[in-house]
Amino acid sequence: MNLNEKKLFVMDMDGTFYLGHRLLLGALEVSRMLHARGKHLVFLTNNSSETPQYYTDKLVRLGVKRKHFEVYTSGEATISFLKSNYPGSRVFLLAVPSVRVMFEDAGVCLSEDDPNVAVITYDKTIDFDKLTRFCGLVRDGVTYIASHPDINCPTEDGPIPDVGSFMELIKASTGRRADHIVGKPNPEILKMLMKDYGVREEETVMIGDRIYTDMECARKAGVESILVLSGETTSAMVPEDHDYLVIDDISSLVSKI
Ligand SMILES: [Mg+2]
Repeated sequence: MNLNEKKLFVMDMDGTFYLGHRLLLGALEVSRMLHARGKHLVFLTNNSSETPQYYTDKLVRLGVKRKHFEVYTSGEATISFLKSNYPGSRVFLLAVPSVRVMFEDAGVCLSEDDPNVAVITYDKTIDFDKLTRFCGLVRDGVTYIASHPDINCPTEDGPIPDVGSFMELIKASTGRRADHIVGKPNPEILKMLMKDYGVREEETVMIGDRIYTDMECARKAGVESILVLSGETTSAMVPEDHDYLVIDDISSLVSKI
């Protein structure tokens, strides 16, 4: 893979650039080097439990220069998806308070009483009442949308249940799977970014730690990708016939950019 010809570097965060509140090896050098070479670095995360501002602040706090990157979350992508595909819909939203405000500020009509779309994001304030309400709506047949499919979220203390786990619970209760899953591996999220930055597939590379989201998203979008083994995936989990580059961590990219 020739990284010189790439213009847009789409990078996962958890398990790829940092783990919890610790930058992974090579993170600062890679961000600095990409900026010096005039490349775009976009952090694309499926984690919709925080706003893009939160991630921006976190990265800056960890020492990454603000002008070296942009952030795009599956929460933002879900807002775009709703506005394009379900304009004017009334949305029952599972989300943390800050993400709820982001949906409202973007003009999404949230409805508790008469929703016709049910959206699940990574709601760490989820409780039995919310889940019961959500399952009731799904059972009644409203359009069911999930921000992303991750089963667990990696943390410094080990994996914690993510949206995919709740989707399994919803499936068990209602018999339905989501009508749309917006985040990785849906290639639309990557296509949206390529369009925004005016780059082609061959000018883009995706870097991440998960086969079933990061690598799959790139494959479906026709984009080359790099798997890092610093997060969820171990070398034993990599299939023999993989079509992506596999590296231990992003530090080995420094000499290739
Ligand atoms: Mg990750």
